[in-house]
Amino acid sequence: MAKYQCFNCGANLTEEDIKDFIRCPKCGGRILIKLPPDSGIKVKAR
Ligand SMILES: [Zn+2]
Repeated sequence: MAKYQCFNCGANLTEEDIKDFIRCPKCGGRILIKLPPDSGIKVKAR
């Protein structure tokens, strides 16, 4: 599932959060950054 981050408050959002309205449910910000699915630190067991 794609993830988004609010540009305004930095909240992490999912598609589910914004499926009705494209905006941050926490601050109402309308600028969302789509995060690539592979973003973040990858931890691999050996
Ligand atoms: Zn926000």
